[in-house]
Amino acid sequence: MAEVTVRDLCKNYGKCEALRGVSFDVECGELFGIIGPDGAGKSTLFRILTTLLLADGGTASVAGYDTEREYKAIRECVGYMPGRFSLYQDLTVEENLEFFASVFGTTVEENYGLVADIYRQIEPFRKRRAGKLSGGMKQKLALCCAMIHRPRVLFLDEPTTGVDPVSRKEFWQMLKRLKEQGVTILVSTPYMDEASLCDRIALIMEGSFIGIDTPRGIVAQYGEPLYSVKADRRAELLTDLRGMSGAEACYAFGDEVHVTMGDAAGGEQYICRVLAEKGYGDIEVRRIEPTVEDCFMKLSARQ
Ligand code: ADP
Repeated sequence: MAEVTVRDLCKNYGKCEALRGVSFDVECGELFGIIGPDGAGKSTLFRILTTLLLADGGTASVAGYDTEREYKAIRECVGYMPGRFSLYQDLTVEENLEFFASVFGTTVEENYGLVADIYRQIEPFRKRRAGKLSGGMKQKLALCCAMIHRPRVLFLDEPTTGVDPVSRKEFWQMLKRLKEQGVTILVSTPYMDEASLCDRIALIMEGSFIGIDTPRGIVAQYGEPLYSVKADRRAELLTDLRGMSGAEACYAFGDEVHVTMGDAAGGEQYICRVLAEKGYGDIEVRRIEPTVEDCFMKLSARQ
């Protein structure tokens, strides 16, 4: 049975349509990623699912409970790590953890086994105030606090935003271990490279899901050939590639331009020839495998 069920969920803030009829299920024990840029609606969705906000339309259930009618039961069995730092800055590491345990009527000792793996990494700093921790350590403590009452479902809202790359990697390893202990995890992120670490992902843009599948499934649906293009005169390159006959999705990607060519259009040689005719130098064109970010760009261009 699905641990999280969402049907046609809508939420408006005045004229802003933050969620426009979102539907999905998350299975028990799944690590499910909600991937999208700032302002896409990720926090709004998590706030509704953790019963902190009421939806304007649609229904949602978590652990079998309805988010409106049975919100008290949901609050007992979910853990929530909000996007902004949620800890008490003036309390020490161990005081924060004890506080969160006591709020849920449990003790750190009772559930220590569940967080031991993560807590051991911050234990040397247990007497330090949370406000004095580094970003990576704050994030580990916040995860421990969200887990200390042994929740069935864990909601992590952009847990790796603003965290250094090493801590980001460690964080995902921790999530994998939590998942192995049977916790259902919903995690949101604006980092497309984190998508491949999830069992399934939903791509969200402007309050709508534009794709739901396994990361491989999303990539497999890409369809047309994709090319990475580099050349001098970078400022004009994007415009010229967009104007090229046969070009479909076309966007800047780091210091390259990624361009999709319809099946009928030519491949590398065709792109090289068009650019050479326009007087470009240092032309490099490679056929590449799409990433989740490429899929996001392509799907969002269709909206
Ligand atoms: P994300 O978490 O993906 O960044 P949010 O759910 O925070 O997205 O925001 C979705 C949209 O709703 C954005 O356009 C944002 O500006 C708007 N929004 C969020 N919270 C409020 C609020 N309390 N009042 C008005 N608009 C809001």
